[in-house]
Amino acid sequence: MEIIRTVSELRNRVSRGREKGQTIGLVPTMGALHEGHISLVSRARKENDLVVVSTFVNPTQFNNKTDLVTYPRNEQADVEKLEKAGVDIAFIPSVEEVYPEPDTRVFDLGPVAQVMEGKMRPGHFNGVAQIVSKLFDFVNPDRAYFGEKDFQQIAVIKSMLHLTGQKVEIVPCPIKRHPDGLAMSSRNQLLDAEHRAMAPQIHKTLEESREKAKTLPVQELRSWVKESLEKTGNFQVEYYEIVDGDTMQPVDQLHPLPENAVGCITVHCGGVRLIDNIRY
Ligand code: AMP
Repeated sequence: MEIIRTVSELRNRVSRGREKGQTIGLVPTMGALHEGHISLVSRARKENDLVVVSTFVNPTQFNNKTDLVTYPRNEQADVEKLEKAGVDIAFIPSVEEVYPEPDTRVFDLGPVAQVMEGKMRPGHFNGVAQIVSKLFDFVNPDRAYFGEKDFQQIAVIKSMLHLTGQKVEIVPCPIKRHPDGLAMSSRNQLLDAEHRAMAPQIHKTLEESREKAKTLPVQELRSWVKESLEKTGNFQVEYYEIVDGDTMQPVDQLHPLPENAVGCITVHCGGVRLIDNIRY
């Protein structure tokens, strides 16, 4: 595996691959890699000749400075995992390399970016669009792999592609979970033992809500999920929305069940912000 730290070297390396007719798969990550990331990498490995994984904690998508500072980083362990997963190129740039000057682009990402994460984290999706459009420009991949754990992000990236005109196939990949149901996340490392033990309750509650969705109206189901978690005293629900999986807009009824309804949640647990979702 080659470790590349500069944009010019990355561009040269991928264009050599292109000249040989190789297909290119890109997996953008912020490092602190776990099996969720590796599931994306394995899929990319199967479907492309050249696999590029970026690990870059992108400052422009953090609307909260403390979150940026405390975000877990572990380059050495990441490199070992990527090597083992058969990656060709690990792109590990510095902030100065990616942003030699401030990125002032403002993306009009539309309604998909105005709800849930977009509403609660102002500027977050604009930062995501900045970094992902740059990575697409550096690598010019045929395919890029994103996890459904960040469900709304996938819709936002598709919206970004309409604006930039970049031609990249977006490949959504299923959520990888721990055996106890907790969605894998770099942020799980920040949970203390007590809260780590409680956190699987989030997925459990969402699973139970599937059964409740058969009878409860949307608003009651939303309240049920929020109250079930909050009454334990261990969780604060930032939002829970049941949305159309393409438009990200709230569904107004569950009976009959819309084809593409997804419940998206953000919960604070022991000072850590955790996100998850479930298909109804
Ligand atoms: P991050 O490093 O958190 O920005 O995540 C990089 C990519 O990995 C994103 O597309 C995430 O959605 C994806 N990802 C993170 N956690 C998981 C997971 N548990 N299962 C599947 N994909 C994931």
